[in-house]
Amino acid sequence: MKEGLKKNDLVTLEITDLGSTGEGIGRVDGFTLFVKDALIGDVIEAKVIKVKKSYGYGRLMAVVTPSLYRTEPRCSQARACGGCQIQPLAYEQQLKYKENKVRGLLERVGKVQEYVMESMIGMEDPWNYRNKAQFPVGRTKDGEVVTGFYAGRTHSIVPVEKCCIQHPENEKLMDIVRQWMNDHQISVYNEETHKGLVRHIFIRIGKYTGEIMVCLVINGKNIPVAEDLIQRLIQVPGMTSICLNINQAKTNVILGNQMKYLWGAKYIRDFIGDVQYQISPLSFFQVNPVQTQKLYQTALAYGDIKKDDVVWDLYCGIGTISLFLAKHAKQVCGVEIVPQAIDDARENARLNGIENASFFVGKAEEVLPQQYEEKGISADVIVVDPPRKGCDEKLLECMVRMHPERIVYVSCDPATLARDLKFLEEHGYKVKKVRCVDMFPHSVHVETVVLMSKVNPKK
Ligand code: SAH
Repeated sequence: MKEGLKKNDLVTLEITDLGSTGEGIGRVDGFTLFVKDALIGDVIEAKVIKVKKSYGYGRLMAVVTPSLYRTEPRCSQARACGGCQIQPLAYEQQLKYKENKVRGLLERVGKVQEYVMESMIGMEDPWNYRNKAQFPVGRTKDGEVVTGFYAGRTHSIVPVEKCCIQHPENEKLMDIVRQWMNDHQISVYNEETHKGLVRHIFIRIGKYTGEIMVCLVINGKNIPVAEDLIQRLIQVPGMTSICLNINQAKTNVILGNQMKYLWGAKYIRDFIGDVQYQISPLSFFQVNPVQTQKLYQTALAYGDIKKDDVVWDLYCGIGTISLFLAKHAKQVCGVEIVPQAIDDARENARLNGIENASFFVGKAEEVLPQQYEEKGISADVIVVDPPRKGCDEKLLECMVRMHPERIVYVSCDPATLARDLKFLEEHGYKVKKVRCVDMFPHSVHVETVVLMSKVNPKK
């Protein structure tokens, strides 16, 4: 251990790298120091807040010489909010950072070699891209209702009226709900005491249809003066669905399992490419519609799907990828754990006149082996799009046994992606192509599409 570096020391250092959550990394006296909010290329002054054996953590005190890549963040709360961890980093550099992160993990953790990394698909205009907002609700000391984000690890809410990655319409919608709450003295939920009614305002807006869903997440079964809220909200053009989500659990999970519909439809609709989707509040739907189309196009191209191919789409949500691929295939089968999402998927197939898609409710790692062993199903192409924790090993084993020509892996977490690719490469598959798509500009998150092919040709 080096001498000298102690808690509360003030040090000056240059940031030479960014870590997995966007924190700056630099070296002082042989120590690696992690400093949140510092950017690659910055020379900064930091206060040491924690020292371990060979590394430590610092707090950014001042930027002595700003990085060439440092830009003025659009949002005044960018540093405190934590939603956009790398907003001050020039957008082009954000893309480089994400691509490097993926490459590093694939090569170090996944041991993947000799593959083609295609250029990352960024956004032309990386703002106002989200179609889904979920803001916590609180009150100021003066009793005014506010919406924004939780400050650090506290229970107090920092108000944000304008979030630059959200659909601009959200401001108006949030304002209506806040006004209604103020006028009727509707109580806000308090995480500490578990008392109070309104927890979150959850909004989804169809990018191409303009359809709007406003859902109040409540610690109760109902809201008072609902009719007045409805009257106010239906003045907004595009209002399609007004509903309640019941969440009475002591949890920081935003949505509960139960819905109550107050007005209009039980879902909104939107398009990705020329496929129309119905989206229920509890179903997963990608948050960046512009990039989603590019993501699915990449999956389609990597799948290289032919007219007599049978395709399995695992973790299919509301059937988004399945239906996007269905026109090109003989048969598409989707598997998804959330029953409402499968209801949506079936309805979506009907809505689009797609007859060669079927859907299964259940865990992918249970449904696929069962279908394979009991029904003898086969697959020419398998697409997986798991949540952050990646694929269950039982699923990967079954995929390998089924021996599809190609596997297309769509991933929102490069660490678990690397782990799973390693497994598949050890079991007869080879990574051919990789392409990242920036679904979440200004955050550290990155989406990756990977094409794997079977090493041994068809038996
Ligand atoms: N492909 C879809 C959804 C991807 S998100 C799209 O692009 O819209 C991942 C999905 O996996 C979610 O819908 C989630 O509900 C589902 N899921 C999570 N664990 C699962 C499991 N073990 N088996 C099947 N689906 C699962």
